[in-house]
Amino acid sequence: MIIVLKPHPTAEMIRHVVARIEELGFTPHLSQGVARTIIGVIGDEDRLQAEPLRAIEGVEQVVPILKPFKLASREFHPEESIFDIKGVKVGGGHLMMIAGPCAIESEERLVEIAEKVKEAGANVLRGGAFKPRTSPYSFQGLGEDGLKILKAAGERFGMPVVTEVMDPRQVDLVVDYTDIIQIGARNMQNFDLLKEVGRTRTAVLLKRGMSATVKDLLMSAEYVLAQGNKQVILCERGVRSFEDSTRNMLDLSIVPNAKGQSHLPIIVDPSHATGRPDLIPAMARASVAAGADGVHIEVHSCPEKALSDGPQALLPAQYARLMDELRQLAEIMGKTIDAAEGVSV
Ligand code: PEP
Ligand code: MN
Repeated sequence: MIIVLKPHPTAEMIRHVVARIEELGFTPHLSQGVARTIIGVIGDEDRLQAEPLRAIEGVEQVVPILKPFKLASREFHPEESIFDIKGVKVGGGHLMMIAGPCAIESEERLVEIAEKVKEAGANVLRGGAFKPRTSPYSFQGLGEDGLKILKAAGERFGMPVVTEVMDPRQVDLVVDYTDIIQIGARNMQNFDLLKEVGRTRTAVLLKRGMSATVKDLLMSAEYVLAQGNKQVILCERGVRSFEDSTRNMLDLSIVPNAKGQSHLPIIVDPSHATGRPDLIPAMARASVAAGADGVHIEVHSCPEKALSDGPQALLPAQYARLMDELRQLAEIMGKTIDAAEGVSV
């Protein structure tokens, strides 16, 4: 349920409503926008409806949230969320440019790639240490050794880092090394994992499951938000379809669709969506044009030797050219790409 306050409520009015909600045993979520102050309350709607909250001074309207996702909904939080991850903002006109190899393979390789993508303007470094591979015989990632390499490279180049966690038991370990936790497509509905990352205060990059609807994705975001972790970045990475000339089918309509329903930022991963370097630049440009809050691209300095997803990796030079184009597009659209702050040593 949402309690909409009259314009320009006094601090005392807000305090009073918040106190009453708490007294009733609910947790109030205050959202103070430029035009409106609203207080969201999650819980037993029938019990709340029975309360004469409308009678409290300063309250203009009490409305139920009709969507099954609450904390993730636009009704709950009318303004776009902006998250600041080590000085790199995402949402509300700030684009997050994530780049790096699919998997962390060695320190030398990651440093070589990180240096290039940073130079091209990427502001977040990616790399998998725990890899969800279709085959149990494929490279599974370097585990904690990989996390150490990633963290060191992030520090060296002053870039926040993102890496995937697959198992609730690994969450405590992974948060020691990363700035953003990635939940992969295959785990988007691993609810125990979502709850566990929800208990942390590390930002989450939540990738769309390969057969998940927009509503499913937002319900999964709700799992994380419900645990108190407010920083969820959605990520479209293509869905399964009958088409077999691309790895997945990129659903770009999800960008305005999710944005209409939710305040959470949404970025696009054209690498996993297409699986084809010849299609990635056009789809990355289309993503930014569609209003995405960033793009997530796999880059490798020697794709033919990559231990994972080599065939879809862009070369650093291709990535740099794409970033030039994306910068121009961002400018036209009035968006900014924050520079990763650190200084290379
Ligand atoms: C990845 O980012 O390397 C990955 C495995 O992505 P997804 O979960 O989208 O397949
Ligand atoms: Mn990959």
